[in-house]
Amino acid sequence: MLHELYVRGRESTLLGFLPIFLLAWLHIDAHALPLLLFWIGSLVAVQIYRLWIAQHYLQQPETHTRQRWYLHQWLGTVTLALGWVISFALLDANELGMPFYLHLIFLIGLSTFMLSSIGIDIRLFGGFLLVLVGGTLAVLSVQYPAFLQRYPIVPIGFVIYAFMLLVRSRGEYRRTREWITARLNRKQLLAQLNASLAEERNIKEQLRQQSEELENRNRELSELAVRDGLTRAFRRGHIEAELRRLIKGLHRRHDNFCVLMMDIDFFKRVNDQYGHAVGDEVLRRLAAVSQTQLRETDLFGRWGGEEFIVLMPQTTLDEAIMAAQRLRLAIAAMVFDVEGTTFQITISIGTAQLQPMENADAVVARSDEALYAAKHAGRNCVMAAPALIAGE
Ligand code: GH3
Ligand code: MG
Ligand code: MG
Repeated sequence: MLHELYVRGRESTLLGFLPIFLLAWLHIDAHALPLLLFWIGSLVAVQIYRLWIAQHYLQQPETHTRQRWYLHQWLGTVTLALGWVISFALLDANELGMPFYLHLIFLIGLSTFMLSSIGIDIRLFGGFLLVLVGGTLAVLSVQYPAFLQRYPIVPIGFVIYAFMLLVRSRGEYRRTREWITARLNRKQLLAQLNASLAEERNIKEQLRQQSEELENRNRELSELAVRDGLTRAFRRGHIEAELRRLIKGLHRRHDNFCVLMMDIDFFKRVNDQYGHAVGDEVLRRLAAVSQTQLRETDLFGRWGGEEFIVLMPQTTLDEAIMAAQRLRLAIAAMVFDVEGTTFQITISIGTAQLQPMENADAVVARSDEALYAAKHAGRNCVMAAPALIAGE
């Protein structure tokens, strides 16, 4: 409410400069310049003071009290009213010409105009009107008694008009209060809405993060479930399930498919010579190197102990043999270092191509036989299982 008064006060004060200059201009021929300047100066000073009040309290709403503002505002409006009252005493001495009537009209206009700025506070407006109307009539009765006697309607009309303005100011006060309350409610509602929207966004973001974490953890868990703890290769159970699933589709599409079985040569010796921990490290590195040699579509798994299996979709037997050789050479090139002593390992590989109508167990068994043959042939080599001959 006060804020509204400040804003209106500032606007009306700025506009209030206009009648001062207009009145001075009307009297410019009839009066000595210093007198006019004195009058203008005093009223301008009052206006500047009122402007300062509005500006000062608008800028520092939290550091002032209502009473202090009232005091200032009272001083400002009452002195302004007095200034205009005194204008009759200073100007227009015994002269009932055009400037005099315009002067009166200015006062009526001023009191109406002030309704819009301080009218929303009936105490301020009432004080202003009392000083302006009462003071003017008092000055007029001293200075122009004949005029008032001849036109008693002027003082009566002036008083009635002031009373009407006062009544109007109550309506103005009510409307302004309703308007400000509505505006405040709207502001509060908007603030609440924004706050709840922000909260909703926050909750959504938290939910998103939590579900992302959950998904990550689930992925890790399911990875752990299908991966071997030591080598991170797929567990045998997962490989077997995948093999069955793949073979179902393969028979329908008549795609090439190979299985590759590999086993470390004389691994017992590694364990015996360097210890089980070194043996574990060998297995870990072998699995890592092997996977770099394979395609993305190949599935690398730990079949058991130091035996590994590779499922190779869309691979002919020749391609599987080539991949097996590449793998064998890569492993043979690895050098292990145990406290300054180095050693190397080799692997034997058996591979078999899936035959029409063949099931998972059968193709694994044939690649296992090929591995056995490779071991028999002296190890560190690749053996392919022969294709099934009809009727066998
Ligand atoms: P080859 O296969 O060439 O006939 O000889 P080998 O010495 O490798 O014989 P075999 O395959 O039968 O030996 C498997 C050995 O691998 C036995 C076991 O001590 C070792 N082994 C199996 N699993 C692990 C493991 O997880 N860690 C370690 N360090 N050793 C393992
Ligand atoms: Mg072995
Ligand atoms: Mg073995």
